[in-house]
Amino acid sequence: MRIVSIGGGPAGLYLGILVKLAAPKHQVTVFERNKPDDTFGFGVVFSDATLGHLEAADPGTHAEITRQFARWDDIEIHVRGETLRSTGHGFCGIERRTLLRILQARARELGVEVVYEKDVKLADVQAMRPDVIVAADGVASGVRDALASSIKPNVDVRPNKFVWLGSTVPYRAFTFIFKETPHGLFRVHAYKYVEGGSTFIVECRAETWRAAGLDRADEDQTIATLSQIFEPELAGHKLIKNRSIWRSFPTVRCGTWHHDNIVLVGDAAHTAHFSIGSGTKLAMEDAIALRDALLAEPDVETALATYEMRRRPEVLALQAAAQASLEWFEGTERYMNLPPAQFAYSLMTRSLRVSHASVVRRDPPLARAVEKLLAGGAEPAPPPMFNPIVVGGLSLANRLALAPWTLGGAEGGVVGDAHLVFLGGRATGGVGLVMTETVAAGQGAPAGTPMITSDDQVVAWKRVVEFVHDRSAAKIGVQLGAWDGDAAALADAAQRAAFAGFDLCQIQTGTGGLAGAGAEAIVAAVRAVRASWPADRPLSVRLVAGARPADDAVALAARLRDAGVSLVWIAAVGEAVGADGGGRLPAAPLADRIRNEIGIATAIEGAVASSADVDAVIAAARCDLVALDRALVYDPGFAHRAAEAIGYAVP
Ligand SMILES: Cc1cc2nc3c(=O)[nH]c(=O)nc-3n(C[C@H](O)[C@H](O)[C@H](O)COP(=O)(O)OP(=O)(O)OC[C@H]3O[C@@H](n4cnc5c(N)ncnc54)[C@H](O)[C@@H]3O)c2cc1C
Repeated sequence: MRIVSIGGGPAGLYLGILVKLAAPKHQVTVFERNKPDDTFGFGVVFSDATLGHLEAADPGTHAEITRQFARWDDIEIHVRGETLRSTGHGFCGIERRTLLRILQARARELGVEVVYEKDVKLADVQAMRPDVIVAADGVASGVRDALASSIKPNVDVRPNKFVWLGSTVPYRAFTFIFKETPHGLFRVHAYKYVEGGSTFIVECRAETWRAAGLDRADEDQTIATLSQIFEPELAGHKLIKNRSIWRSFPTVRCGTWHHDNIVLVGDAAHTAHFSIGSGTKLAMEDAIALRDALLAEPDVETALATYEMRRRPEVLALQAAAQASLEWFEGTERYMNLPPAQFAYSLMTRSLRVSHASVVRRDPPLARAVEKLLAGGAEPAPPPMFNPIVVGGLSLANRLALAPWTLGGAEGGVVGDAHLVFLGGRATGGVGLVMTETVAAGQGAPAGTPMITSDDQVVAWKRVVEFVHDRSAAKIGVQLGAWDGDAAALADAAQRAAFAGFDLCQIQTGTGGLAGAGAEAIVAAVRAVRASWPADRPLSVRLVAGARPADDAVALAARLRDAGVSLVWIAAVGEAVGADGGGRLPAAPLADRIRNEIGIATAIEGAVASSADVDAVIAAARCDLVALDRALVYDPGFAHRAAEAIGYAVP
């Protein structure tokens, strides 16, 4: 087999190495437009887990890489004049140039033909008629552009600006610096990759970048400005340039990664924000999967399809984590008022893949500090989800809620024993709040939908509400939907719901007449309901994540707050859950933005499965309540069980 790779970065070189190692008879040629030592940037980071994969794939390369590593366990955070240190994170850093040298030498040793200073076009390579063409040509892939109509790339250029610098500060830990200046907030991601050399990536919002005059700065002026800003942090050390141009991070996603005998690997196919340090890992793991598929499958077409099928879910999951992480750094300004320990916790759990249990294991002092904060200083502090909270004057015993769950079967709109058992069972199961399914405020709902338009319907609801109040510590909220879109019907229904004794009223914008409605209609409905729902009881609105651009949702939330809403409930349901390939806690990023930018309580609903996830989002101040659907439907005693598992007695 003859394989030609366009690009001699980590992906192209490592693929060549692995193929030659497993099948020395195959011919591999790598074209690289740069000289061997000509590279941008300074260091790259790997986690311990990545190293395990590399060891299994080629012990030779792995041994060389680990010999050259700088290792560290700690993360240090500089914020608001405080320095916080978190332990228990295994990382390694290596100079990009060193990594490439190792790969180049190994490739040469195994007989990979690497042609440097050769800028090739796809057509040139096609003319050579190889069996497989590997597009390993990096983030600005020319092959991807040439095949755009079949590969269907989507390049999402993010708003923040960043520059990749070096410094001589001998960082002892992976270091984050958050520096407030009159121009705005700067973030630094810094780590040592070699004795006497550290990576120093500076990131900020575009407006901060412009205000500091960095939009007009060349490399030397960038160094001069940043040296001044970080003078105390650099403590006499220097910043070093290496093609240090200000850039915006492009998140690359592609509809498919192969076409005919051409296959995309590494940054050409997908990127993951540098704040989770995984680009090189992904590139090298792609090479492993492609090698496996090329050697195992009977023909190239099947091999490329197999490669993509195997890699895509892993890459999408990592990209979802990277997306959550880059959004954290894009919006760090909103966390600057959190107490330092909670700020650190939020940073550590930013990818939404780190549970509270994992923070407890890795860094017990940080976990305890945040638990104590949430408990208002009380010790021993309960686990995050078991802290009480007051929402719009309503006291809830803990942060767990039952999400609206459609039971239906309400004959004539009148709820009966099924609703009593279902809602009553979850309330006695220990959650702080149970929500009803959508209750129709007027006509036009599907048959079986519970209603609250007549006296007999109100009386039936009163029985459920009284059971919850008499037999549990839980509060009960009604979710109202108007299928005919009538704000007056909602206001009427709210009045009846107040009479039935509901503690909280929620307006549903996901189904019924307000589904797809604009901000005006939603605000009008809120005003009408607020006027008829008792002033001392909280009003909530349920918004569907992804129903409108995030910026619009945040602006809407501000209007809802001003109109008297106390709780914005973000539901990630249906498409929103699967859209980014299975990101964890899909409602959390929007709830986080709304809570921390607007200053209003938020709840999340959708794809929450474990109590460890609940604890992490509460502890990180991403939301105030977490609503469970399936987890509570299958297990009414979820709250008691979660408490029992950690030896905590629910009061
Ligand atoms: C600021 C920043 C920090 C980062 N930090 C980390 C980190 O800590 N850890 C980590 O794992 N990753 C990190 N990355 C990502 C990492 O650099 C990339 O993900 C990784 O290099 C991808 O490898 P690749 O082989 O796919 O592409 P590249 O390394 O970009 O290699 C592509 C190669 O193709 C060559 N090429 C392109 N076109 C042609 C052509 N027409 N002909 C011949 N040659 C061509 C290029 O010269 C280049 O050498 C970071 C990225 C940035 C921007």
